[in-house]
Amino acid sequence: MPTARIAIIGAGLSGLCAAFLLEQKGIKDYVLLEARDSLGGRIASAPATSGAQAFDRVDLGPTWFWPGYQHQLASLVADLGLQSFEQFEVGDTVMERSPQGPPVRMRGYASSPPSMRLVGGMAALTDALHRRLDATRIHTGQAVRRLRSTERHVELVS
Ligand SMILES: Cc1cc2nc3c(=O)[nH]c(=O)nc-3n(C[C@H](O)[C@H](O)[C@H](O)COP(=O)(O)OP(=O)(O)OC[C@H]3O[C@@H](n4cnc5c(N)ncnc54)[C@H](O)[C@@H]3O)c2cc1C
Repeated sequence: MPTARIAIIGAGLSGLCAAFLLEQKGIKDYVLLEARDSLGGRIASAPATSGAQAFDRVDLGPTWFWPGYQHQLASLVADLGLQSFEQFEVGDTVMERSPQGPPVRMRGYASSPPSMRLVGGMAALTDALHRRLDATRIHTGQAVRRLRSTERHVELVS
């Protein structure tokens, strides 16, 4: 386990964003420890078709954001120069309610304030944060299992 003044556990959106904020303040003495081999946590955007480009991805988990009340998220999206678009809400919706039954056509609904999506899926956000971090600070495959406090430091055990 590397040594640093600050340890961020988990490289989901929160951890990536925390590391990004440190970097913006010129603080480099940190490590970002992620249990899995990939970054982004619950955010997962899959290619829409085989051979699809990075802008052509479908969200499998978190999909929308609401600038109307997620002000910090909206600023982050703007600061990173990401492209967003309004969720298409006109007409009916096709819903797969269960893997056993066929998809069902039903009346759509409009959300207010509008739900926004990112070009390239939500992973465009975590990818953009990742690109702005010092790669040597990120350690994947490091599941932190225990914290041990000694007189001089805190030890993270994986
Ligand atoms: C199906 C679904 C749909 C959602 N839709 C939306 C939406 O449309 N809009 C919205 O705003 N929010 C949505 N959310 C909520 C959103 O996903 C979360 O608020 C956000 O992704 C949480 O990010 P996080 O970094 O806090 O946590 P996580 O994404 O859970 O990341 C935590 C990370 O920490 C790692 N980790 C955990 N324990 C350890 C350990 N001991 N050592 C090292 N690493 C560890 C994990 O592997 C993971 O990578 C949705 C959530 C789900 C599940």
